[in-house]
Amino acid sequence: MEYDIHNPKRENELDKALRPLSFSDFSGQDKIVENLRVFVEAAKLRCESLDHTLLHGPPGLGKTTLSNIIANELGVGFKLTSGPVLDKPGDLAGLLTSLERNDVLFIDEIHRLSPIVEEYLYSAMEDFRIDIMIDKGPSARSVQIDLEPFTLIGATTRSGLLTAPLRARFGINCHFEYYDEKVIVDIIKRSSAIMQVPIVDEAALEIARRSRGTPRIANALLRRVRDFAQVKGSGRIERQIACFALEALNIDKYGLDEIDNKILITMIDKFGGGPVGLTTIATAMSEDAGTIEEVYEPFLIKEGFLKRTPRGREVTEKAYAHLGRSLVKQQSLF
Ligand code: ADP
Repeated sequence: MEYDIHNPKRENELDKALRPLSFSDFSGQDKIVENLRVFVEAAKLRCESLDHTLLHGPPGLGKTTLSNIIANELGVGFKLTSGPVLDKPGDLAGLLTSLERNDVLFIDEIHRLSPIVEEYLYSAMEDFRIDIMIDKGPSARSVQIDLEPFTLIGATTRSGLLTAPLRARFGINCHFEYYDEKVIVDIIKRSSAIMQVPIVDEAALEIARRSRGTPRIANALLRRVRDFAQVKGSGRIERQIACFALEALNIDKYGLDEIDNKILITMIDKFGGGPVGLTTIATAMSEDAGTIEEVYEPFLIKEGFLKRTPRGREVTEKAYAHLGRSLVKQQSLF
């Protein structure tokens, strides 16, 4: 199978081809997968729907992919939507009534559901039933509709924004962690095999190091490196061509993205490297404090650029070295 990566439609096809379809294809997140295998097996044995499941963690770590896999492993249908798209209760009712027995309904960005749609979801999740209003004015009346049992899988990057009643309705709760370099290497090798591009181990490692522990970034970098290998190299991804491509693409050596670097730079330049409170950093950057805390900070802490102290966040020496700033000079300023 050959793909034209310059054609977005083709690129989408490639995306699909790279998505693992079964638990055994899905690398990493071992604890989550191990538990889900048991829950899925148990639901199948009892011919019941799987409990409602909440998947939370930063973007690109495989929440959508794993939800698809759950439906495949259960042998049921899969419908996908997202919080901001479902803005009217009628949209939700339409989706819910179209589900067949034990199907999976996946709602991405579930923290962005409107409160009124969320309210409808409660009875659907709890009793597999919804009340809808028919007609307007004096003849308006509510009709109860029974639904087939189903599994709601909600995904969110911001679990802190979920309301308590919604959170309480999920029986299974999984937190996604950033992937280790070794697992990302495996994902890159699997993807290159699917793309039919040979890659040497050291090149896979170079790409993995700059992938921010995130499979989506790893796959995107692999595609760009493949361009360089095909145009400027032999077609095979060697270490040298991988390094050349990653340099040319201006990819941060540690995989940090623009916002990661901005957080560190703001802390160093404006707050002498900390300790400084999260909301102060967020205000200085005009960013949302919750997004920094749930989406960016975990990676910076994992990689040792940032630490949490009782007095606030502090950057580490590694951050100063990475950004080419001097620790001594910065400290003497304050
Ligand atoms: P999320 O829903 O968390 O934002 P996705 O499920 O869309 O992330 O994953 C992004 C891409 O990364 C997918 O296209 C998939 O190919 C790849 N991917 C994610 N997790 C894995 C994994 N564990 N193994 C292999 N590929 C993965």
